[in-house]
Amino acid sequence: MAGMRIALVPTMGYLHEGHLTLMEYGREKADLLVISLFVNPLQFGPQEDFEKYPRDPERDARLAEGAGVDLIFSPEAKDLYPDHFQTCVEVKKVTQNLCGASRPGHFQGVTTVVCKLFQIVKPHLAIFGQKDFQQLVAIRQMVRDLNMDLEVVGRPTVRESDGLALSSRNVYLSSEERVSARSLSRALQEALSLYRKGEQHSEVILNRVREIILGADRTRIDYVKICHPQTLEDIPLITDRGVLALAVWVGKTRLIDNCLLEE
Ligand code: AMP
Repeated sequence: MAGMRIALVPTMGYLHEGHLTLMEYGREKADLLVISLFVNPLQFGPQEDFEKYPRDPERDARLAEGAGVDLIFSPEAKDLYPDHFQTCVEVKKVTQNLCGASRPGHFQGVTTVVCKLFQIVKPHLAIFGQKDFQQLVAIRQMVRDLNMDLEVVGRPTVRESDGLALSSRNVYLSSEERVSARSLSRALQEALSLYRKGEQHSEVILNRVREIILGADRTRIDYVKICHPQTLEDIPLITDRGVLALAVWVGKTRLIDNCLLEE
């Protein structure tokens, strides 16, 4: 292992093509590719889907092997959080808005487990998806603030052919809900096109986004916002770049997606 460059791809398992592209990237950039499979109880609220989160470790192991993964780290919750565990990592500001507002404690759970994974695996490179944009921003902030000696890479969102972002939670969708779920990426595309035609006012773009999403059956908006891509604070006017982020309930499934508004 001495002198080897280690890449880590943290996941909650139930792997899909989005995860696999992160692994492909890691395979290219490192000598040793490690993934973690861990449904982290700390990042789920009491009313959330921790218990029913989809799990299939055997299939995951086959897919990981096919992707050239050298080592799968799949701890038990009691191993990462033994009795008397009492330390958390909290990134304060960038976790306030968006999912942080709807899911109290979520990001503290994420940064705590990711910090632990970094300590255990000691990667030189850690790879995350831009699909979870706020998570990526929070992890970059943690790494900077706590002088963690590794590189964080964010990779583009992988989508189905109709635009729906791949997610382990897509299995929850009924066939009717699956059709409605297309409205999220359609709305993002429309927003990008409005922005590229010169619209800079967030509210104008957001109104159109809401209209498209609410035009689909069984959708309920948790949030749709345009934020500064680094601070994640709301911006009323997009002067340079913005990130349009949304969380939408489709039936009983909460989906998130985002896109950068840039030239
Ligand atoms: P999860 O298993 O959902 O916690 O995701 C593990 C990693 O895969 C995170 O860094 C996610 O951002 C990333 N990821 C999830 N879905 C996608 C996707 N559709 N495209 C690219 N990366 C993704």
